[in-house]
Amino acid sequence: MRKNIIVLRIKITVLLFAIAFVVSSFTDVYVEEPESPAPRVKKIILLIGDGMGITQVSATMTVSGYSLNMTSSRHIGFMKTQSYDNYITDSAASGTAMASGEKTRNGMLGMDPDSNRVDLITELLRDQKKMSYGVVSTSAVTHATPASFVAHNVTRNDYEGIALDFVRNQPDVFIGGGKSNFANRRDQRDLIRVLENDGYEVVYTIETLKEASADKVAGLLADMHMPRYSEGRGYMLAEATHKAIELLNRNNRGFFLMVEGSQIDWGGHENDPNYVIEETWDLDVAVGVALQFAAQDPSTLVIVTADHETGGMTIPGGNLEDNSILATFSSTGHTGVIVPVFAFGAGAEEFTGFYENTGLFDKISEVLKLR
Ligand code: MG
Ligand code: ZN
Repeated sequence: MRKNIIVLRIKITVLLFAIAFVVSSFTDVYVEEPESPAPRVKKIILLIGDGMGITQVSATMTVSGYSLNMTSSRHIGFMKTQSYDNYITDSAASGTAMASGEKTRNGMLGMDPDSNRVDLITELLRDQKKMSYGVVSTSAVTHATPASFVAHNVTRNDYEGIALDFVRNQPDVFIGGGKSNFANRRDQRDLIRVLENDGYEVVYTIETLKEASADKVAGLLADMHMPRYSEGRGYMLAEATHKAIELLNRNNRGFFLMVEGSQIDWGGHENDPNYVIEETWDLDVAVGVALQFAAQDPSTLVIVTADHETGGMTIPGGNLEDNSILATFSSTGHTGVIVPVFAFGAGAEEFTGFYENTGLFDKISEVLKLR
């Protein structure tokens, strides 16, 4: 099956305006690396583009007129994505590899291949360093990628069980969709009330999220997933990232924040290059927010990567005159190609080279000096 679609510069002017606003001051700051010895890493912002392979980045780079934040990195690596039981990973196994350093079976979260619970980076840094942590996504927070950093479950499909792990593990901040997994459950439990009793401020809109100030904040902004960028989500991801950083940064021991551009993957599954490019661009705006914070705080490490590529997307043609590309897809599923890692700031040099997706956990543990 071969499907050719010309990608035009639709909606990109709006995006260009927003990106200029978010990152105008920062590109210059980031070209120069500090000459003094690298400071100890205290703050980590990991941004994951679900399904964001090299082609998704190339396409977005071209259509945007070569103004992406992520590609301004000087410390770039590649990760292999295969899971324990499959050459083609799913987002649960790859999320678990990044979050725990363990390869597992497709579909599993925070479990080894024999269904034993494995420690997550978020649990380790809270236990050992008293750091805070949070997750932000444009999917339900209970969906595989954000859940990989919070939950332990033999199946990613147990959304209500995963919501219980959010209540048990209590991330300091979580923002995304997934409200119904907390509020409208088959077991009739009202997890919103449980969260509130545990001191959470629970909010349901991006406007009320901006005003949130409690020690623990849950933003459940949709019943399940957020709409796609071009269908009304707007800059929710960048705004939620900004808010999460503000809240987490109150802990002077540091923090870990995982931000997911969840829907790049969905554009890939649909073989819709416009969907892929809009969502990759939207993630890049959140990257800009993270880099703007890092530019003012030299103990910050920003990592941008992917869990796998989706769609077998290629670019057999393009035009620099109008920044358009010709996109084709070879699959409606995930593929087995390596994915990029773009690192910035404190400890960024550790993330260069070629490694397994479990290496991301190893390297984060190393820079945080976890046992
Ligand atoms: Mg995902
Ligand atoms: Zn997928």
